[in-house]
Amino acid sequence: MLLRHTTDKVIDRQALTINPAKTCQPIGAMYAALGIQGCLPHSHGSQGCCSYHRSTLTRHYKEPVMASTSSFTEGSSVFGGQSNLLQAIETIFSTYDPEIIAVHSTCLSETIGDDLNQILTKAREEGKVPKGKHVIHCNTPSYVGSHVTGYANMLLGMTSYFAQHTGISNYQVNLISGWIEPCDMREIKRIAKKMQANTMMFPDTSGILDGPLNGKYTFYPKGGTTIEELISAGDAKFSLGIGQWATEEAAKKLEYKCKVKYDICDVPIGLQATDRFITALSRYANVKVPQSLTNERGRLLDMIADMHSYLYGKRVALYGDPDWLIPMTEFLVMLDMKPVYIVSGTPGKLFESRMKEILGEKVPEAKFKNGETADMFLLHQWIKQEKVDLLIGNTYGKYIARDEDIPFVRYGFPILDRVGHSYFPTVGYHGGMRILEKILGALMDRIDRDAPEEKLELVM
Ligand code: SF4
Repeated sequence: MLLRHTTDKVIDRQALTINPAKTCQPIGAMYAALGIQGCLPHSHGSQGCCSYHRSTLTRHYKEPVMASTSSFTEGSSVFGGQSNLLQAIETIFSTYDPEIIAVHSTCLSETIGDDLNQILTKAREEGKVPKGKHVIHCNTPSYVGSHVTGYANMLLGMTSYFAQHTGISNYQVNLISGWIEPCDMREIKRIAKKMQANTMMFPDTSGILDGPLNGKYTFYPKGGTTIEELISAGDAKFSLGIGQWATEEAAKKLEYKCKVKYDICDVPIGLQATDRFITALSRYANVKVPQSLTNERGRLLDMIADMHSYLYGKRVALYGDPDWLIPMTEFLVMLDMKPVYIVSGTPGKLFESRMKEILGEKVPEAKFKNGETADMFLLHQWIKQEKVDLLIGNTYGKYIARDEDIPFVRYGFPILDRVGHSYFPTVGYHGGMRILEKILGALMDRIDRDAPEEKLELVM
């Protein structure tokens, strides 16, 4: 019993987080930056922060994640890190030759009060940024928000810096991608292509964090959104943000700066959210939904109908990021499962209203919470009060799953102890089938494990 001290008695906490259901802002900024072609993320802070962020991304994506650091020492921690960053920019361009450096701050540089905008302006004025190369930044103080906030902040940095409005429309729809796996980005592009929609996705980590092994190491893989594409976002006819938390600020900025109107949809997880995404894309790109996509939808429906009896009434606990928790909860309710406990360490007022709307009368017993005290300790306490049949979330849930003997489906970020998440999409109708396969696999393995010998079924 690894978590034997967790009790079922919940005491209201104001200022303590135990086992947070989130990680720190710069990880999100780093992941978003990797979705630009030829980009080297740069962490303005101590080496320890950068190592932690890189190693978490590397362990999740099973790809070497490159990033540089301002490498604060005691001196820079007291007097500020301007000289470190100026030197870093010079060294990075001369040694690693990226197209762009995407700088994010850390707790330490934010606490000192380093002004990244001022430092980068100085770097440009002093000629440390070669012609045709770029340095962008965002602020990621990790004592507020979460990795999702950091991701959103870097997207805001991309639009603020690059998007340009020339007045001549390129008729494209910007797909502003929320925090999803590289394979999910690839899947959304596949769907858009099938619909013959004129789209441009940013950021796009496909081809960068799910690259092939071909015997050659490439420092800057060929995937990702190009700088020209980022500039072209300002001439689009519309932006569709995929995931409210991660994309709304960037979409708003594009509207404010370049008059590109926007809409936000949920990450297309499950049947309804995928329906809404495809309907929105069809409307904004003015294209039809092809029969082949309708067939994909039909296959998902068929699988649901075939396996419904194994899902009906099963109690589920989930934790992670709002942008996937919301459509996933909706999908589970649609499957006649009971998502009874849901926590997210990422703050944001909409969480409660969306959950109420989805769970409302269908799962009136559900408990959900987000923000600083909505942690995995609380989730575990709720589970101790009344057990669940399934746990869905990142690798950190394995301790609860083991102690409480609950079937466990790994989903979200980070997944440090399994593979597949970055290769097999869970968005769209095909992705819905993948989620179903994983849920059913976990539930049916448990039925087999617990069945007395005389009741072990060959056919299920
Ligand atoms: S100090 Fe802040 S930025 Fe660095 S690893 Fe810790 S939470 Fe993240």
